[in-house]
Amino acid sequence: MGLCVSMLASGSRGNCAIVASSLTKLLVDAGISCRETFKRMKAIGEDPRSLSAILITHEHSDHIYGLATMAKKLSIPIFMTGATHQAWARAMRDENGQRPKLEKLEKFESGHTFHVGDIAVKPFTIPHDAADPVGFTFVAEGVKVGIATDLGYIPVSVRDHLRGCDVLVMESNHDLEMLRGGPYPWSVKQRVMSRVGHLSNEALADFFLHDYDNNAAFVVLAHLSEQNNHPEIARREAEKALAMRGGLFQNRVLLAGQAEPLAPIRL
Ligand SMILES: [Zn+2]
Ligand SMILES: [Zn+2]
Repeated sequence: MGLCVSMLASGSRGNCAIVASSLTKLLVDAGISCRETFKRMKAIGEDPRSLSAILITHEHSDHIYGLATMAKKLSIPIFMTGATHQAWARAMRDENGQRPKLEKLEKFESGHTFHVGDIAVKPFTIPHDAADPVGFTFVAEGVKVGIATDLGYIPVSVRDHLRGCDVLVMESNHDLEMLRGGPYPWSVKQRVMSRVGHLSNEALADFFLHDYDNNAAFVVLAHLSEQNNHPEIARREAEKALAMRGGLFQNRVLLAGQAEPLAPIRL
């Protein structure tokens, strides 16, 4: 086996995924409760006790909600940047003003590769309104996986990091028309659409058309808005763009959802 990707939950109510080699199992973000994470892991045949580490992309609650409990229960290393840790600890102060402690905190820096077991992890900066947000690529046993959600647009640096991925997990947050006409207050709409907000179906399609290397065997659409998107619209936009590039047969398009885990993707 090369790498296995399991999307446990994806969307503004919580994000959590597993990237695993035959030796190492990483949880990427802990945005749903510990209990729900364990439940979903068991549902896809994974034992929570077999996790090697937890990696955090940024401190927004849909990425860290279950972290404190999970860290306590599993006692495994937690990887995040120093700035993300500070922002997390500030937000998590208890009633006495005490910052929570992570027993096994490991700090990484964006742009610097580190290893957890046999998986090489490369965090890279993404444009999003958090302290120090990152996407990741993972390489093990000749397979590369890229995860880029929560980004206002796709800068050249991110495109470069995502080259050569065999599994590509990309944000397809909203349909621009649905967002504009939808129920959000204007200030929130502006935030979502901004350069540090979330990636639209249209922006992702533009990436597929012009900047994507057509390498992935699987493309996973992730972090879909429940109010401002529809899975079939997101799929149609992505497949249309990939078909125009002649890449639809290489790229199987999958949709990661909020309510239940996606079947594990093995490469
Ligand atoms: Zn976010
Ligand atoms: Zn998010």
